[in-house]
Amino acid sequence: MVGGTTPGDETRSRVRGAIPHGGPGLRVAIVGAGPAGFFAAAALLKEGAQVDLYERLPAPFGLVRYGVAPDHQKIKRVASAFDKIARSPGLRYFGNVEVGRDVGLEELRAHYDQVLVTIGAASDRRLGVPGEDLAGSVSAVSVVGWYNGHPDFPSAPPLDGRRAVVVGLGNVALDVARVLIRHPRELEPTDIDDDALLALRRSKVREVVLLGRRGPVEAAFDLGELQDLTRLVGVEVGVDAAPGELEAALTGAELDSATAAKVAFIAGLPRADALTGRRRVLLRFLASPRELRGDAEGRVRQLEIEHNELQGPPGAARARGTGRTSTLAADLVIRAIGYRAVPLPELPFDAARAVVPNEGGRVLRDDGEVEPGLYVAGWIKRGPTGLIGTNKGCALQTVQAMLEDAARGSFVREGGPGAIDELLAARGVRVVDYDDWLRIDAAELEAGRARGRARVKTRSTEELLEWLETPPRTSQRAAR
Ligand code: NAP
Repeated sequence: MVGGTTPGDETRSRVRGAIPHGGPGLRVAIVGAGPAGFFAAAALLKEGAQVDLYERLPAPFGLVRYGVAPDHQKIKRVASAFDKIARSPGLRYFGNVEVGRDVGLEELRAHYDQVLVTIGAASDRRLGVPGEDLAGSVSAVSVVGWYNGHPDFPSAPPLDGRRAVVVGLGNVALDVARVLIRHPRELEPTDIDDDALLALRRSKVREVVLLGRRGPVEAAFDLGELQDLTRLVGVEVGVDAAPGELEAALTGAELDSATAAKVAFIAGLPRADALTGRRRVLLRFLASPRELRGDAEGRVRQLEIEHNELQGPPGAARARGTGRTSTLAADLVIRAIGYRAVPLPELPFDAARAVVPNEGGRVLRDDGEVEPGLYVAGWIKRGPTGLIGTNKGCALQTVQAMLEDAARGSFVREGGPGAIDELLAARGVRVVDYDDWLRIDAAELEAGRARGRARVKTRSTEELLEWLETPPRTSQRAAR
């Protein structure tokens, strides 16, 4: 019982007051059903809160479904933990509801004690060099979305050329390189998108160059991910470095054990000219793209790169251009230089850092004051870094703040839990609830079983919504 209302109260009463212990009776909307959203939901449910989880797409799980590479099925298993959370009696799933389009953030806030935004980082950082918009120059975000069946990224990158250059040395760069270069046969048992698998079977890409602006010490990828690349059947991994270049980059470095192991592993890789196999990945350090050049059709064919030197202590050294340039042929250029958050209407946004300004998850207004009842967690809170599990601690920090604020009475709400359903229904929004998702999930898994694959996804939102309106046995792509 909160301030005279019960959770079932459908009236548009305005309520203000303290919730004892912060949890029981608290009504929270979480915007974004990715890892941060689910970790926060679990923590709030444990304290007795009621959680409505909003997701722009019909399918839940965010980067677990649409970001983690299809050949990393073990990592995707965390979805079963999220599924258990979603089945909790205190949670309602509102899939296919875009906050900022179907319902405004301020409208949503009026229906809940607190709103937590966990929308991640849906876009990409740009290189900012001439030629970046040529055909065949794409973001890793779009390639990852494409092979994972994300509805926003239906277009295949052009795979009709021999060499792809991936700019950046993070784990995403390695994911993309691995999916492009590994034999497509090995992707068949995964949940890779059907069209992507077909395109990869036809792909002519036989060499992926990973281009890093700094040296091996500063490479952002994990050693394990690089080792996985070297274990691919029929793929050679080597280093493309001028004589003495690697050694110079390492001089004077005092490294922690993890970095030392990574650097030793890189130093032990064969040099480019020693590779003889048909499929290869080359690591190239200390070079930044300066310009992408195209052919007469406007299709990227070449990168001009500037060679860099390092300035500062190893690990924290900055790349500085030497003015020395050279060219590198490329039929496809993929920038894997980081994700970037997209602002949500009515939510403060720091465009320079591409995060929502916050203090431990409490959203800060432009004047630097805390905006009561509004919170962030995950990549929109701290930027696009860290593994899936990193979002747990991040979400818990925010939930702690939410519970403290609720106990102090800093919340405002009007309308019971039914009011938001009525509002969405009046706007003709087709909410995909968790039972709907379970039907989709079952159909995808069944289609996968029939073809020896982990699952067969349906990319198109329209197709999914149409399928939901038809009896379960009617054919849809996932049920083929
Ligand atoms: P990231 O780890 O931040 O790596 C970004 C890379 O882009 C860095 O090598 C960075 O180089 C480079 N870069 C940035 N701006 C550049 C520019 N203007 N020119 C050239 N290079 C530039 O980001 P991410 O790879 O997108 O990964 C995001 C997060 O997800 C990371 O925490 C990652 O570990 C995690 N993730 C994990 C896995 C896994 O565990 N399997 C898989 C995918 C992603 P500098 O270092 O020089 O800035």
